[in-house]
Amino acid sequence: MDVTFPCPSCQQDLAADSSLAGAEIACPTCNTKFFIPKAAPVAQPPPPPPAPAAPGSHLHAELHFSVPTTEAPTQSLIKKSNPTLGTPVKQGPALIQIKTIRRIECQEVGKDHFDERVTSFLQKIGEANIVSINTITYSYLPMESKVATDDYGVLIVFHG
Ligand SMILES: [Zn+2]
Repeated sequence: MDVTFPCPSCQQDLAADSSLAGAEIACPTCNTKFFIPKAAPVAQPPPPPPAPAAPGSHLHAELHFSVPTTEAPTQSLIKKSNPTLGTPVKQGPALIQIKTIRRIECQEVGKDHFDERVTSFLQKIGEANIVSINTITYSYLPMESKVATDDYGVLIVFHG
């Protein structure tokens, strides 16, 4: 039977008896010498599909990608936390303190300086730092009379 094959040089369709396969001939059209292929040379087996190796390597590539993506957020978190720790964001409200002013402490030779003392203290700490002002009453024992006497004062809560 004949086999048909193209000339490898000029693609001219040629035919020869299958018994001549492997023999060297010269193309009658272009005179190129070549070997007659064996029967059905065109039907080449399809290349085997790239089987399980391809998916495996694909997964491997994804794993490679996941490493830098997980590292990136960690690094950015560290970078963010540094300025937060370094900057004195808010020292919070100043320490809360109290100041007790008793009227008897403001007596000077018959003069009462209680209002002046309280006023000057409030001006010193500033109105914004005043939390509350509470009146207090207390008893004391004057040296002269030896009689318990009630008196008053203020307890100032403030930020200082
Ligand atoms: Zn040819």
